[in-house]
Amino acid sequence: MNPALYAASFRRSLLHWYRKNGRDLPWRRTRNPYAILVSEFMLQQTQVATVIPYYNEWMRRFPNFAALAAASEHEVLHAWQGLGYYARARNLRATAIVVTQKHGGSFPRSPDAIQNLPGIGRYTANAVAAFAFNQSVPIVEANIARLLARLLDLQIPIDTSAGRAALWAHAAALLPLHDAGAHNSALMELGALVCGSRPKCEVCPVKRFCRASEPLMLPRKKARPTIKLQTEHHSFAFRRSRVLLEQSQDRWRGMWMLPRLETAPTGCMPLHVSKFPFTNHRITLTVFRHTAPAPALKSSQRWFSLAALSSLPLPSPHRRALEAIIPRT
Ligand code: SF4
Repeated sequence: MNPALYAASFRRSLLHWYRKNGRDLPWRRTRNPYAILVSEFMLQQTQVATVIPYYNEWMRRFPNFAALAAASEHEVLHAWQGLGYYARARNLRATAIVVTQKHGGSFPRSPDAIQNLPGIGRYTANAVAAFAFNQSVPIVEANIARLLARLLDLQIPIDTSAGRAALWAHAAALLPLHDAGAHNSALMELGALVCGSRPKCEVCPVKRFCRASEPLMLPRKKARPTIKLQTEHHSFAFRRSRVLLEQSQDRWRGMWMLPRLETAPTGCMPLHVSKFPFTNHRITLTVFRHTAPAPALKSSQRWFSLAALSSLPLPSPHRRALEAIIPRT
């Protein structure tokens, strides 16, 4: 079916549903490109319900590009703490610095110029162009990808270049010339609320346009890399009500964590064991008490009072480990 033949009636059904069912989310009440960019960065890989309190607090602490550009990396990582994927926070701050220093504080309007900013790809650039500047550009994120794959009954994996091209082409074919912001929000919302992992086809407003005969089988994706198991050992050194921490240089660059150990100390039981996922790894975190005399400090290590811990950027697995260990110390 040629989308040009049904795009107008598809859009009418979609918007009619969205006006009645769309959620009132804080970033949908604004056309401010900064606020929209913050929400888009936070929503990558993270659920709406998790993002809302972080978004509100972030906008209170860093209300505009200038405030974020003036903040230290330490403050920014601390505010992002718990959301994970910290490269997003670093890129958001780097973008704020570029906007402030190179664009005179004004966010560029063209999707191509937006894509030149740190950490911004096609989706985020088009999302800001559509939601802040109401430009008629398509967007394809996870919810829209799932919805479009089902509407098209797309049998090729959506994480291949052919699959991505098919989704972006269909998103462009459905796009209105005006009010693309509302149209794109409605597509996302339908993907999130109706065409989710368990599609509610019986209440779907675009059911008559949908070609999927087995929606649960869609979207197709390439085989996932197998999950790798990994164990990481860390030490807990506690002296005069102070904890020794180490600034990470790799996975959580800039954040503070329990000092890493090359190997588990022989004959010792860990103080704390927990598991957490990281990309395609399932990591077991073990923490051992440091019982020897105070260790010689490396340049990346510092002692912190217990009171200072709440204002430090700490990765969630290490914050949880400290919260479990300190009351027992
Ligand atoms: S009919 Fe079902 S599978 Fe098709 S778009 Fe609607 S919810 Fe998704």
